[in-house]
Amino acid sequence: MKKAEMQQHHAQYESLIAQAQAARREGLFQKTIQLALAAGEHIDGMMKYERKRDDTRFTGIEALDMVLRYGPLLLDFRSLDKLEQLLAGRRRVDKNTCVDYEQELVKAKARMWQNHKFWDHLEKNPDCRQDELRQRLGGDQEDWRRTAEMWEDMGLIRRAPEGGSYRLTLMTQMREVVKAKCPSCGNVAEGAKAEFLDSVPCCACKENVLLVILSRE
Ligand SMILES: [Zn+2]
Repeated sequence: MKKAEMQQHHAQYESLIAQAQAARREGLFQKTIQLALAAGEHIDGMMKYERKRDDTRFTGIEALDMVLRYGPLLLDFRSLDKLEQLLAGRRRVDKNTCVDYEQELVKAKARMWQNHKFWDHLEKNPDCRQDELRQRLGGDQEDWRRTAEMWEDMGLIRRAPEGGSYRLTLMTQMREVVKAKCPSCGNVAEGAKAEFLDSVPCCACKENVLLVILSRE
């Protein structure tokens, strides 16, 4: 890879990460994941460029960290599958970072299953109490609390203080399957509602659009 090429990958990586951070600040988490995955395509060039300037190991790679953080919280299996494909065959990431991303991916998948179980519980038990989660779901109360706090921050649930704990209420139907139409080409896609809350690339025309959710038939 030529130096100019590396520099270009580096610039594109930085730009996509800046956009991902902006989306996160706006509370658009699906978009954050999409942009982080797009940045992931430039990791090799970015790393080569950085290491030419300064021969140290990376303490982490933000593009990967973002997907690992928000993918499980949005119950977004596809984002972790894409991350797995991204990591496959990228030895540079292994060699030059202090983080074992293969291991982090395994942990993120486990967290996603836990989050599914949690979300399921919230769907079946409206207004359940936070301090009863371990009793009802097993596992570690600290993990449930942390996830509940993250979901609250992301606007997915409400935590209403009550008697030293919280009552948890869903603010959205993350897993409801809906149809959504591309405003640009008219293609109708089907998927979990959470996937359509931010702009995503249309699977037909590839344009980045905010799909219009159609009412269920
Ligand atoms: Zn389209």
